[in-house]
Amino acid sequence: MPDGVVIVGGGQAGFQAAASLRAEGYQEPITLIGDEPHPPYQRPPLSKAFVLGKQNQDQILLRPETYYRDHQIRWIPGERTMAIETCEHRVRLRGGAAIPYDSLVLALGARNRTLPLPGVAYLRTLAEAIEIKQRLEQANDVVIIGGGFIGLEIAASARTLGKSVTVVEVLPRLMARVVAPVVSDFFYRAHVSRGVEVLLNTRVREIRGGDAVLEDGSRRHGDLVVVGVGIVPNTELAAEAGLPVANGICVDEWLRTADERIYAIGDCAVYPSAYARSRVRLESVQNAVDQAVAVAKAIAGKGAPYRAVPWFWSDQFDLRLQMAGLPAGHDQMVVRGEPESGKFSVFYFRQGRLCAVDSVNRPADHLAARKLIASGAPVNPQQAADESFSLKIS
Ligand code: FAD
Repeated sequence: MPDGVVIVGGGQAGFQAAASLRAEGYQEPITLIGDEPHPPYQRPPLSKAFVLGKQNQDQILLRPETYYRDHQIRWIPGERTMAIETCEHRVRLRGGAAIPYDSLVLALGARNRTLPLPGVAYLRTLAEAIEIKQRLEQANDVVIIGGGFIGLEIAASARTLGKSVTVVEVLPRLMARVVAPVVSDFFYRAHVSRGVEVLLNTRVREIRGGDAVLEDGSRRHGDLVVVGVGIVPNTELAAEAGLPVANGICVDEWLRTADERIYAIGDCAVYPSAYARSRVRLESVQNAVDQAVAVAKAIAGKGAPYRAVPWFWSDQFDLRLQMAGLPAGHDQMVVRGEPESGKFSVFYFRQGRLCAVDSVNRPADHLAARKLIASGAPVNPQQAADESFSLKIS
């Protein structure tokens, strides 16, 4: 009797791997083990529709609970996988049970990077979102530490709920690690014009008496202080099993680890990307879903090297930022449209080739960019900046 596939991690990638295996006609047993108590759910609404009360817990589930039974997916919630016994081809659960596998998929995600500050909240899981939502209902003043995607999305939601909001960012601009200065400046103005106080080049020194104390000694009261300063990939399970790890579980272009039976996907995996010309670890729904689909195909015997164009989105107020490709190593950048109009895109070029595009409220540019980057169709900076030039591939 085959042992089938064991998937550790019941998040976006783990769920998708199980669903895609069945969609590919895989007939053997599938076991999906997650340490959270809920069926797999979407994280993006946690900082947006869920805290705003527009979507409830059931509405963010990736599938209803019945799906797993109907598709013969053995779903084990609330169970942490403690070890991979690679020689015996089995995983060991916290409760002591051993589950054998023919193939193992690690979809372990990541956890919040934490700061040594008491009483602050973090947002990664549904449980944390429930806590933030409840505390937001009572709060007047909200302090957000970190001006990245998560921090800014929570800031926008809290402000939309009428709270007084301060964002404290240690770097000189918002989302500095991922977007161009023109995009950072645009989002700075967007938040400030909607009433968010944004402090750049500023660090929170301590939390005292319900106040965030800044480095210059000034204070901002926070009934709720949320920290969004990045995540740490969950790699320990793989490292302890002797698999190579370097800011993520190392996989090849087939998303296989050094052990040919074991794959790693999603936020926890670092892989060689043709679009970055280096190894990258991405934190996005697209990456989790597309890598899961690729691994399911590989296990079902229909595999191909993973080549999907990375893309991402972030919703803040009525603004949708969409990103395609990877700008790392770009040497030229042009803007299409006017930032003042609230709709524009930034095109990044590396050695004359389009490598990434950030779009604000220009979904057509984003879709065109994904196709242009995937196909490698020629477009030069002058054409990209010229709004009369069609980006559509004929
Ligand atoms: P996860 O979804 O984190 O799933 C991993 C699961 O594995 C977790 O449930 C974890 O508890 C479990 N696990 C870990 N170790 C073990 C173990 N040993 N045993 C059992 N289970 C284990 N992306 C976008 O593209 N657009 C957005 O707008 C966006 N918004 C976001 C908003 C928020 C608030 C957050 C937190 C993320 C957002 N993301 C967004 C990122 C996106 O949700 C993640 O990239 C995606 O969820 C990654 O999927 P994953 O399966 O790799 O990891």
